[in-house]
Amino acid sequence: MAMPHGALFVHWASIKKEERQMAIEIFHDTISPSAHKDFEAWRSQHLADGFFLNPRSKGEVMLHRADCPHLEFGRKVSLTAQKKVCGTSSSELRTWAFRNQAKVRTCNDCNA
Ligand SMILES: [Zn+2]
Repeated sequence: MAMPHGALFVHWASIKKEERQMAIEIFHDTISPSAHKDFEAWRSQHLADGFFLNPRSKGEVMLHRADCPHLEFGRKVSLTAQKKVCGTSSSELRTWAFRNQAKVRTCNDCNA
């Protein structure tokens, strides 16, 4: 007996949604000793399609593109002393910020 196509499609769509929810990655020195290196690796892989949130103050985060000129590569200081929340969807990052009660500002230099 053949499966109705509609049911298969719905099933597939829910898998896609799960995957998208897992696309957010958080890099923080308190989570991993290699956070800074991992963050740089993530950025170089997502220069064209990545975004990240950087905390500014309590309850406020700044949205940047992965290739933002603020963060040159190969810095001696750890960029992940402050948490970096990364993803390929800026709307997902905004949702993350909303859930974490943080207001989002957008960076003027990379026009995120
Ligand atoms: Zn920026």
